[in-house]
Amino acid sequence: MTQIYMQPSMVDKLAPHPLEDYSGPRPVTGAEEIRRSRRAIHLLVIHCSATRNCDDYTPEQLIRDHVRRGFRGCGYHYYITKDGMIYAMRPVDLVGAHVQGHNRHSIGICYEGGLDHKYMPADTRTPMQRQSLSQLIHRLLELHPNAYVVGHRDLSRDRNGDGVITPDEWIKLCPCFDAKLYNREWVVAP
Ligand SMILES: [Zn+2]
Repeated sequence: MTQIYMQPSMVDKLAPHPLEDYSGPRPVTGAEEIRRSRRAIHLLVIHCSATRNCDDYTPEQLIRDHVRRGFRGCGYHYYITKDGMIYAMRPVDLVGAHVQGHNRHSIGICYEGGLDHKYMPADTRTPMQRQSLSQLIHRLLELHPNAYVVGHRDLSRDRNGDGVITPDEWIKLCPCFDAKLYNREWVVAP
């Protein structure tokens, strides 16, 4: 069974960039390692990896798959695995490749999962992932106080409106929960 992905055509391709620092993943072990982007950040965009919660999808696999899709390294800036580990992927100063039309002024955060064991979309975040996601968002909002938290699906267009979710319409569901709730202080607080 293959994993469900956004079609490459639905994601902005990253233009050639002089920086070659695509060496991630780098485990983030403290808030001080989360840096402010030199870009103006308006959005924190939350994604899921669209893999089953019973499968492992490592940061290295994520990088490999994004490279296969034609990206220069991982398209997301952060990846949170099921054990709650936060990995720095693409440097935040570089424009990401994760959401059509909104890459330039956003930071992309992806959690491992988003599908149940039957490959159905589901909020599969583990308690550790929820805690890490809250902490990461909290820190990024400290660094970028004017940013707004959204899910990928909040930025997607209703592509053909037929009510049937096909793989190429996956972004209608990503990240399988209401990410906008993170803009509420009481949710973000650790
Ligand atoms: Zn997404």
